[in-house]
Amino acid sequence: MPATTVPFRHLFGPGPTNPYPEATLALSRPLLGHLDSAFIAAMDHSCEGLRQVWGTSNARTLPLSATGSAGMEAAFVNTVHPGDVVVIGVNGLFGERMCDVAARCGAEVVRVDFEWGTPVDADRLAAAHPNPTIIAAVHAETSTGVRSDIAALGAVKGDALLLVDAVTSIGGIELRADDWGIDVGYAGTQKCLGVAPGLAPFTINERAWERRVAKPQSWYLDLGMLGGYVGEASGAKRTYHHTAPVAMVVSLAAALDRILDEGLADVWARHQAAGVALQAGLQEMGLELFAAEGHRLPELTTVKVPDGVDSARVRGYLLDRYDIEIGAGVKQYASSVWRIGLMGPNANPGSVELILAALADALRHA
Ligand code: PLP
Repeated sequence: MPATTVPFRHLFGPGPTNPYPEATLALSRPLLGHLDSAFIAAMDHSCEGLRQVWGTSNARTLPLSATGSAGMEAAFVNTVHPGDVVVIGVNGLFGERMCDVAARCGAEVVRVDFEWGTPVDADRLAAAHPNPTIIAAVHAETSTGVRSDIAALGAVKGDALLLVDAVTSIGGIELRADDWGIDVGYAGTQKCLGVAPGLAPFTINERAWERRVAKPQSWYLDLGMLGGYVGEASGAKRTYHHTAPVAMVVSLAAALDRILDEGLADVWARHQAAGVALQAGLQEMGLELFAAEGHRLPELTTVKVPDGVDSARVRGYLLDRYDIEIGAGVKQYASSVWRIGLMGPNANPGSVELILAALADALRHA
């Protein structure tokens, strides 16, 4: 196969999902210059759409030209002063990554562990330290398929800033940054927003802005300079900071239009219905779910690999036979858990039927 020919795949994995058609089409349009007024309008439009999917009125809401991990890094590098106490709830891989990033920014990290497959508990996080600067958690843990209660964290954060990872929740499940007390949040485009990977939707409120680090270690992720990048939307004069990934921003704007046209509540309901149907179907097949009941994400379902079944063989069979990719488990669950994503355009009844039928076939024949 020539390197430029990309096979068609149904992506049911936790990785980059298939984009909404509108987002894909937008990627094929002629490129605009990054200072073209039409591009600036698209950027402003995407910032406004992001405010809606974040559930925020924060002026400083923008798509960082960066992956979700760089969004995480931007969140910490701009808010952690050396020696600050940062309490982090860890119930999976991305909470662990937060600890690493915060420590590199000079934080005194207070790590509070929860069993993988269960949510973080607000009261335990609040009790972990009397006076933290930041409390941080992952809303939707992609490594385990678990949703944590961010509103409960907001209710107990006290004087701390609440810093939240919404990479796998934004555009898929209820997310209300302002109502829940999120001060700083980062996300990714490749999950439920249904855009290619590579942008980090970011939001920061006035409370966090006033406490930010004056001169962060990172030049590129210094939010003080990025204000100029998004211009009026952030209350700053637009100046050159870096060359925007114009195609990605235009693609994001198209996906946000699609989501907001459908209606955010209806998009959440579509993800919920697909996830519930998939999880019921898997249990009817005799499979056991990994994430604790009552805390399961609809957009990312974790399933225990049945005893005696070779996880990699089944995944390989799905790929070869059906062009379907599902995810393996993470770390200690690499061969004992599967992760099935139903995100963005994949969250629909047809995808549920397809993956259930294909998995049943794979379990019989792989
Ligand atoms: N946080 C969560 C919850 C994720 O699922 C991911 C990626 O899958 C990230 C952070 C990191 O995002 P990226 O891979 O775009 O750097």
